[in-house]
Amino acid sequence: MTFIQSLPKQWTIKQLMDTPGRINMLNERVVTLVGMKRLESEALFVSSEGGGTLRETAKVHFAGQERYWWLARKVAGVMRRVLLSELQLQKCTVDKPCIDCAVCGLLGGLNTDNNTALFSRVKLQDLISVEPYEYDEKFRIRQPDDPNKGNPVPFQEVIVPPGTRFPFIIRLIKPSQFDIGAFLYANALADGLGYGNYSKLRGNATTQWIAIFDGFAHISAYELLASDDLNSALQAIADNPAGPVNVKNTLHSDELNTYIHDVTSSKEKWVS
Ligand SMILES: [Zn+2]
Repeated sequence: MTFIQSLPKQWTIKQLMDTPGRINMLNERVVTLVGMKRLESEALFVSSEGGGTLRETAKVHFAGQERYWWLARKVAGVMRRVLLSELQLQKCTVDKPCIDCAVCGLLGGLNTDNNTALFSRVKLQDLISVEPYEYDEKFRIRQPDDPNKGNPVPFQEVIVPPGTRFPFIIRLIKPSQFDIGAFLYANALADGLGYGNYSKLRGNATTQWIAIFDGFAHISAYELLASDDLNSALQAIADNPAGPVNVKNTLHSDELNTYIHDVTSSKEKWVS
């Protein structure tokens, strides 16, 4: 029995809508998930799309050097798509969230047709790489879909290489059993499908989860990335997290792996 099994099964949209004003993090529970994502194939995380022939993955100067920058909202977008498809919610789409389904209940959204909104209870931090950014321009050629029409187009791209790792820190506000299960399940599927916008740059990933904390663990990506011994820093966080955390409830090691295996192997484990 983990602390997650003592959480409510699932919130209804009405219960979420009825929460007066903003959800108060001091009164409502928070769960913190921490892991490490590792790219298994090339990816291109563009922050803006220009019209030129050079496509460049985004970078940011952080914790002493330039690093690859993977925007949290791109991860959230892929996860929403995956969950909508898995739960077969045809009336809700990424572009027009219905604000009336389990996915909107978790990931929030704004519907301008009937003026309803829910804020996302999943708070993802931007993902910033452990490995430093390297400007490695690749010269490539795009073949036309139909070789009888159009010409091959040369282009260049600067990609994120496979093996690049990113600390992955998530806070889930007012969590239910459904929320945590759905998030972990969608994450596992999204990792397999990839986060790439381009067919040849699939951006597959794997996630190694380190801990799930009952509380608002103060984990700083900056401190992790500035540390010269990342594994020890992660271990220290798992053993003794800073911030308001109920430490005896922490899921890590075998207990964490068993729980994650459970919820990612079957939707029945978290769909009410
Ligand atoms: Zn919806």
